[in-house]
Amino acid sequence: MSEWERLQSDIIACARCLRLRQYCATLAQQKRAAYREWEYWGKPVPNFGSPEAQLLIVGLAPAAHGANRTGRMFTGDRSGDFLYRALYAAGFSNQPHSYHREDGLQLRNVVISAVLHCAPPQNRPSREEIAHCKPFLERTLELLPKMRGIVALGQIAFRECCSLFRKKGWLQRTPRFAHGMLVWQPPAPFLLASYHPSQQNTFTGRLSFEMLHQVFCQAAQLLQQPVHECPERIGPFTKFGNK
Ligand code: SF4
Repeated sequence: MSEWERLQSDIIACARCLRLRQYCATLAQQKRAAYREWEYWGKPVPNFGSPEAQLLIVGLAPAAHGANRTGRMFTGDRSGDFLYRALYAAGFSNQPHSYHREDGLQLRNVVISAVLHCAPPQNRPSREEIAHCKPFLERTLELLPKMRGIVALGQIAFRECCSLFRKKGWLQRTPRFAHGMLVWQPPAPFLLASYHPSQQNTFTGRLSFEMLHQVFCQAAQLLQQPVHECPERIGPFTKFGNK
């Protein structure tokens, strides 16, 4: 078994957060009426994508009737519909939709993880639960030898990634979260922030499809840049333009 496979099976078998495990198991038993025929996954959701990827996307957590049902990150809910459409438009996948684990979706040069691998009630994890799950994100980072950058979806993911960057000496001080915020001190990987594609953001227009698509186009552009040519950058991506 490779280290990556071991990480994935450790995630699936984890039971550190009693509250979250009970919540996910209950959801899997009770089910939403529209998904009565589904056998819910109900376990912690592993990372999705190849460890050879250069770009890591970090979300908050599986959705109660999305990834907790389908067993694949951002699969089977409105946030995922939005995210995968934007990834496809930026060339990071072979199809714009994600319905279930056997739907043929293949990511290109991207791996998707999250701050938590279990769905929290009301999407509100406790600090303790975030801390419990952090070692999985650390191990994920360690096991991506070609990783050159991270897109953090939402404030919590951005904060947790900054904390990991600080621990690694890639960042001195956590900047304020803002959509489009870029943190990059080459040769460290870059960190690019986006609003989370939750319905709360997409239905209100806070995050449009174009805005999310733009983030992934920016990430693709950053991946292309030779590290030795990159100056240090901390601020909105647009401030640095196409340099
Ligand atoms: S949220 Fe993370 S640490 Fe907590 S039970 Fe799930 S996988 Fe384990």
